[in-house]
Amino acid sequence: MARRRQIYEGKAKILYEGPEPGTIIQYFKDDATAFNAQKKGTISGKGVLNNRISEHIFTLLNTIGVPNHFIRRLNMREQLVRQVEIVPIEVVVRNVAAGSLSTRLGIEEGEPLPRTLIEYCYKDDALGDPLVAEEHIACFGWASQDEMNDIADMAIRVNDFLCGLFAGIGIRLVDFKLEFGRLWENDYSRLILADEISPDGCRLWDMTTNEKLDKDRFRRDLGGEVEAYQEVARRLGLLREDANEVLDLEQHRRKRGK
Ligand code: UDP
Repeated sequence: MARRRQIYEGKAKILYEGPEPGTIIQYFKDDATAFNAQKKGTISGKGVLNNRISEHIFTLLNTIGVPNHFIRRLNMREQLVRQVEIVPIEVVVRNVAAGSLSTRLGIEEGEPLPRTLIEYCYKDDALGDPLVAEEHIACFGWASQDEMNDIADMAIRVNDFLCGLFAGIGIRLVDFKLEFGRLWENDYSRLILADEISPDGCRLWDMTTNEKLDKDRFRRDLGGEVEAYQEVARRLGLLREDANEVLDLEQHRRKRGK
């Protein structure tokens, strides 16, 4: 079968033209980057796990009425999504101090925040995705005031839902990153959640041991990356008896040349 036309290759995903207009295919790679791509590596099997985890979360968000781009999973590494015009802002939602917030403001990692904090970064790899204020977003027209209101409302809803979902499986949702896109219908656009939600873009700590179950294992050279992602998938009920099932299946298919 002729390979579909590639639209874009990012750090962790490749986008291909979808089968119908207005759709695209997200292919999840095993590549991992950190610190604005200064650190690069691969986490074997990560793409398969992120595809499943993101499918699960976006499907659940759909059931509670958070509009998102997910249509359906196609195979181990690919999912069909709606094509959107990505808003050039990374929306970071924080419940507990960690990472760049701790470094920037000198707050100890693990310190619960008095209230949920939403931060915005301008999506520009060359600039290292700098933190920006809502005033910058308005000043440069990256999103309208109505869009910013929708973004903040959806981000809070996603956070409340995910905090509960993860608490139910013994995981603290420390922080995470969201991206939104515009879905155009004639001259009118509405915002929906896009990209992915997976341990690549979330900080997930075991509630009893504080063990990190996310990309910080890679960023901080802690090892056990794939086991951590598998543990998240397992607790979400996405891996049955054998934790290696999904990965074994993929290796089996590769051997058969499918
Ligand atoms: N994050 C992300 N992509 C980015 C930057 C951050 O997915 O380009 C996620 C990251 O995984 C974490 C949250 O956003 O869950 C907050 O990240 P932070 O600002 O602390 O940056 P970091 O410490 O990852 O550099």
